[in-house]
Parts: sequence; C-alpha cells; structure tokens
Amino acid sequence: MEKLIYLNGEYLTTEEAKISVFDHGFLYGDGIFEGIRAYHGRVFKCQEHLDRLYESAKTIMLNIGISKSEMEEVLCGTLRKNNLDNAYIRLVVTRGVGDLGLDPNNCKAASIICIADQIKIYPQHMYENGLEVKTVAVRRTNPDSLSPRVKSLNYLNNIMAKIESTQAGVVEAIMLTQEGYVVEGTADNIFIMRRGALLTPPLSAGCLEGVTRNAVIALAKKAGLEVREELFNRHDVYNAEECFLTGTAAELIPVVQADGRVIGDGKPGNVFKDLLQDFRALTLVDGVLINK
Ligand code: PMP
Repeated sequence: MEKLIYLNGEYLTTEEAKISVFDHGFLYGDGIFEGIRAYHGRVFKCQEHLDRLYESAKTIMLNIGISKSEMEEVLCGTLRKNNLDNAYIRLVVTRGVGDLGLDPNNCKAASIICIADQIKIYPQHMYENGLEVKTVAVRRTNPDSLSPRVKSLNYLNNIMAKIESTQAGVVEAIMLTQEGYVVEGTADNIFIMRRGALLTPPLSAGCLEGVTRNAVIALAKKAGLEVREELFNRHDVYNAEECFLTGTAAELIPVVQADGRVIGDGKPGNVFKDLLQDFRALTLVDGVLINK
C-alpha cells in the first residue's frame, strides 16, 4: 500500500506531497512540529501533544487555522488512511507560503503536514546495554533568545550538538545551559538517580517540556520515588546511580557512560527498568482511539 501524507486538507502520495520553496518553514525554519506515537490503535498522549503544539503556536504568533479537535482528526485520519495502529507521527505546521522577506505577515495561511511512518533513532542493543553520551561545547539555545519550550522547526542548535558527539564517536550529545548546568539531549530529556532521588532539569533551565518526561515524572511519583525538577551539573551525572533519556521516538533509553565515566555499575539500573515497564503498560491504555 502506498503511503499517504496529509497536506493542507488532502491525502497525497509521497511523490505528490510537495510544499512551495517560498514556504517560510523551508526559508526560515518558521514553524513548529510535534513527534507523536500511536500504540495499539491509540494516539498516545494526544491531548498533551496538541496542547504543546498550540502553546508553541501562541508563543510564536502562528495562526494554525484549525481547532485542536480538527487537528486530532488529522492525526487519526492519517493513521486510518495508512492502516496503521502503531506508528510515529510527524505533525508539522509552518507559517506558510510568503515571499523572500522574513515578515510573517506576508504568509497568508499556515501549511499543515502530517506524516505517519516508523522511526528508529537508536539500535536495539543500546536499549539492552545502555548508550554512551558526551557533553558538547555548543550550548543549548538560551531561553531568552528562543524558548526551547517552543518546539520550533529551528533545530540547528540540536544538530550542531549531534554533529559534535558523533564526530567524537558518541551517539548522543548532552547539552548544557549557558551556566553549565545539564539541560537535555538533542531530542530527549535527561533523568538521573542521585542519592536515592530521581532528578530532571526544571523547565526554567531551558529544556523542552517533554511529553515522555511528564509521563515518567508521574509514573515515578506513583511508584513512590522522590522526584525533583532541579538543576544539576556534569559531576552529578558522572556520579549518578543511574541515568536515562526520555523522548517520544526513543521512549526510555539507559545511559551507562558519560564523557568516559561509567555511570553506576555500567548497566541499565533497576529504577530505569521499572519505569520502562510502567511506561509500556501506559501505552496499552492511554490515548485517543484512532477508530472512534
Ligand atoms: N527535547 C528535545 C529537544 C526534543 O526534540 C524532544 C523530542 N520531542 C524531547 C526533548 C522529548 O520530548 P517528548 O517526550 O515530548 O518527545
């Protein structure tokens, strides 16, 4: 079956689904997106993703042009058209077609694109044995310049970090704030177990408010863990009992080495394993049904 992509109200083949070179998403990275997952016939954390999309739109003053419930139908419709129960969904909303100037007022209407596909960002053995990370020199965009809470199409900062870690032979980068606190990975939030408590950087540090992050915080609290959204630095990561990353595409993935320091006993920890199990259980029941 040929893949069908939603583009501005139509379902088109990959060949047909094209946007203008004058689209400001292309010319200026002027737009926003969401990476969403469907599990077992449900759009996981659908409301949370739509809320974040519309919050991003509000902050950058982008008029999406359709309501959240219409957008929910775009997601479900794309999955139905492609006969998918389990998928990764990329929802992109750009400022739309304008001219070569950057003024967004010259863009008449937002472009809305929805692609349902598979995504695999880490190989399977890393889920079993853990991965290595490297803190990189390039700092996370300062929240006063462009809030990382806006999930914008401007990912060059993250891409620069990824280039730096892969050039060093390490699969994922950990980014720091201007002050040197740990903030997040290139497409994931970070958690550590440190002196018996689960820590993750606060939103004020300048990380994305990850949907998986929020789900993991809730699951950890439910399991009786002490959870704190708190600033920490590289020393805390090196000396953590456990470390893991969270994201829609990656789900939960253990980190066993940072900048050459072995974390804990160098194996995925028990807190990670329990939370992953709880997360998987949640994916069985949470979310909006694709076939209502
Ligand atoms: N941080 C960044 C920079 C990201 O791109 C992502 C992926 N969306 C995340 C964190 C994780 O967020 P989520 O759990 O909502 O996928």
